[in-house]
Amino acid sequence: MVSLLVDHVGELVTNDSTSGDGSALGVVRDAAFVVDGDRVAWLGDSGSAPATDEQVDAAGAAVIPGFVDSHSHLVFAGDRADEFTARMAGRPYAAGGIQATVAATRAATDEALRHTVARLVGEMTRQGTTTIEIKSGYALTVGGEARSLAIAADFTHETTYLGGHVVAAEYADDPAGYVDLVTGPMLESATAHARWIDVFCERGAFDADQARAILRAGIAAGLGARIHANQLSPGPGVTVACEVGAAAADHCTFTTAEDRDNLAAAGVVATLLPGVEFSTRSPYPDARALLETGVTVALATDCNPGSCYTTSMPLCVALAVREMRMTPAEALWSATAGGAAALRRDDVGRLTVGSRADFAVLAAPSYVHLAYRPGVPLVGAVYRAGRRLA
Ligand SMILES: [Zn+2]
Repeated sequence: MVSLLVDHVGELVTNDSTSGDGSALGVVRDAAFVVDGDRVAWLGDSGSAPATDEQVDAAGAAVIPGFVDSHSHLVFAGDRADEFTARMAGRPYAAGGIQATVAATRAATDEALRHTVARLVGEMTRQGTTTIEIKSGYALTVGGEARSLAIAADFTHETTYLGGHVVAAEYADDPAGYVDLVTGPMLESATAHARWIDVFCERGAFDADQARAILRAGIAAGLGARIHANQLSPGPGVTVACEVGAAAADHCTFTTAEDRDNLAAAGVVATLLPGVEFSTRSPYPDARALLETGVTVALATDCNPGSCYTTSMPLCVALAVREMRMTPAEALWSATAGGAAALRRDDVGRLTVGSRADFAVLAAPSYVHLAYRPGVPLVGAVYRAGRRLA
């Protein structure tokens, strides 16, 4: 195993509150750390590190844990730029637009789908993301969902079966029959390639009873649960998430005080996806109310061709700060440790002895610049499991 020293780190974000300044980010100044193989093996003051095979001089730059993007839909074909243009001219976003991508995805070759995922994963990596969750959900057939998940599994272990994205067009008159398919044969062929199950609980997609049935079937098959909840209107999604013990309720754009209390009590992470509100010109979730209630908040991109076609976690951090009034520290924590919590991972989203050596060296002296300098490519070298990716 090759050992690597990263030295002269001006500001090291560990996400370990027992380190450095004692904040949630555990910021250590003038720091160094050693990577042995794929793990962080030592962390301390600059200039006092043990000898290593290789050295990187951060020259005073900030180093952060790699971003954990816990919500993306990368297995699709085609794009919906026309729909975006229409929406910017005043047409509202509705769940039905998904059907356009379903038709294109069904018609695409494996090779084309894999090429798209590789391209988008490459974009994410270059912007500092080192853990990516990828959902299926644009095939809505037994074979098609399994195909999407198999392709996603070539890029990440965090794969999510989303047969319950919308009711497939063939079942427009028989939504109950579609739920039977999603919880039966489609689930059976998906489990080999999936770690999670997800459902879009929304008017125009699945109601509370259907969402509950889909998640419970997935849990019974050994998958973890997550849910698209309370995105377009107040609704039962958060309640269902808390009932079934989901890892995360994603979107949470419209939450009541009771929803927020339930999330905090149930320990369900609220994953906010501000790129969606930005790209659909919609009101942002009330992040402050969630944080003040004690809910664990994650940030993710929701990269998809309809409601939000960004791969940029730095953009999400900037939006969280500017539009949702999160502090730069809260936003960075949510984009790293928060995402890890949403995936129930304790080996990523932090830089401490024993954690996976996933990190980004910023072309900036402080993580605050991620929000302070929006749109600027500040992510320099990116490492995952001790290996340089970008
Ligand atoms: Zn989504």
